Amino acid sequence: MRASADVVIIGAGVTGAALAYTLAKRGIRDVLVLERRFPCAGATGRCGGGIRQQFTSESNIRLAMGSVRIYEGLSEELDYDIEYVQGGYLMLAETEQELELQRKAVALQNELGLPSRALSPEEVPEIVPLFDTSTIAGATFCPTDGHANPFRVVEGYLRAAKGLGVKLQKFTEVTDLTVRGGRVTEVVTSRGKVAAGVVVNAAGAWSKRIAAMAGVELPNQPVRHEILATEPVQPITDVMVVSLHTGIYFSQTVQGQIVGGIGDPAERPGYNIRSSFRFLRRFLSELVRHIPALGQLAVLRQWAGLYDVTPDAQPILGPTPGLENFIQANGYSGHGFMIAPKVAELLADYIERGEVSEDLRRLSLSRFEGELKGEAFVVG
Ligand SMILES: Cc1cc2nc3c(=O)[nH]c(=O)nc-3n(C[C@H](O)[C@H](O)[C@H](O)COP(=O)(O)OP(=O)(O)OC[C@H]3O[C@@H](n4cnc5c(N)ncnc54)[C@H](O)[C@@H]3O)c2cc1C
Repeated sequence: MRASADVVIIGAGVTGAALAYTLAKRGIRDVLVLERRFPCAGATGRCGGGIRQQFTSESNIRLAMGSVRIYEGLSEELDYDIEYVQGGYLMLAETEQELELQRKAVALQNELGLPSRALSPEEVPEIVPLFDTSTIAGATFCPTDGHANPFRVVEGYLRAAKGLGVKLQKFTEVTDLTVRGGRVTEVVTSRGKVAAGVVVNAAGAWSKRIAAMAGVELPNQPVRHEILATEPVQPITDVMVVSLHTGIYFSQTVQGQIVGGIGDPAERPGYNIRSSFRFLRRFLSELVRHIPALGQLAVLRQWAGLYDVTPDAQPILGPTPGLENFIQANGYSGHGFMIAPKVAELLADYIERGEVSEDLRRLSLSRFEGELKGEAFVVG
C-alpha cells in the first residue's frame, strides 16, 4: 500500500466513488479510496436506486436538483450505462395533513425551479396504470425524478476515476486515525499506515465509528431498512411510487422486476441486517392494496441494508469544526444515492479551493449545536 496520499477517502460506496472521480476530473489525482470489503458492500449496493428531488428542506431540494443535472449526463460522461430512467416520482398522500404538507412542499419546490405538481387520485392511473385510486387522497408528481442502477453508478465512477490515476484499495479496513496539531495526519489500516493531506469520512452507517477514531462524536445512528425484488414482468411503469403515509416505495427496473421497500416505525437502531417475514408481509400487503394486479407476482429475493440516520434526517457534510482537513460525507438518512453526485462537487470545491458553499455550511456538523429544522419527506 502507498505511504501517503493528498486525499484519503474512507468507503467505496456511491459517496466515495463520486468524490474520487470528481476530484480526479479536476486534476486532484493523488487520491486513495480505502474500502474494508469491496465497492457497494454498504448501503449503496443494497439501495432502491431512487433519485428524487421532492423534499421539504431547501438544502435537500437543491442538492437533489444538482444531482439530477449530473445524473442526466452521467452515462455519456463516464462512457458507461448507469441504467438511468427519468420516469418521475409519484408521492402518495392519504390524509388531509399529508396533503397540506405536499401543498407547502410543491410551493417551495416550484419556487426553486422544480416542475413538481399536485395530482388528484383520478389522474394517478394515467401515470401508474392499474393503480387503485380509492387508496389515496391525492399525490404529487415530478417528471424529472427517476432511478438508476447503484452498482453501475459506482462501477462507472470508479472505472473513470482509476483511469485518471485514483487508487482503490479493497479489503483494507481503517482501524484508527492519528490527530496532531488540529489535523488528521495519518490513517491507520489493516494493511499499514497512510499519511494524508485530507481525510474524507464516507463510511456510511460506520461513519460514527470512523469519526470516533479522531475523537469526533457524530449523532448518526444505523437503522435497518429491508427491500425486495419480484420476478420480472412486462413494463408497467417507469415511475417510482412513494407513500408519505406508510413509507412504501417501489419502482420497476429496466429488467422488469418490481423493487421496493417500506419503513418500519418499530425498527430500533443497530447493525442488524437480517431479513424478516414481518417486512415481507407489510410490504406486499401495501403494494397489493395500491395495485391489486401485482398480487400475481412471485418474490425472488429480499435483503436489508443500513440507513445512516441523523436527528434532522439531513446529511452531515464538510469540514469538521476543529479538524478542518477531516471531512464528513455521511448521515444521509436514506437519501444518499440521489444526492451523492452534487455532494461530490461541493466537497471537491472545498478540497480544491477551500470554498464552503451555503449548503455545506447549513449541513455542517456544527448545526447540531443549534435548533434543528428537519426534512419531513423521509421514506420510513
Ligand atoms: C434498503 C435501502 C434502500 C435505499 N434506497 C435509496 C434510494 O432509493 N435512493 C437513495 O438516494 N438512497 C437510498 N438508500 C440510502 C443510500 O443507500 C445511502 O444513503 C447511500 O448508498 C450511502 O452511500 P455511501 O457511499 O455514503 O455509504 P455506503 O454505501 O454505506 O458505503 C460506505 C462504505 O464504507 C465501508 N467502510 C465502513 N467501515 C469502513 C472501515 N473501517 N474501513 C474502510 N471502509 C469502511 C463500507 O464497507 C461501505 O462500502 C437506501 C438505503 C437502504 C438500506
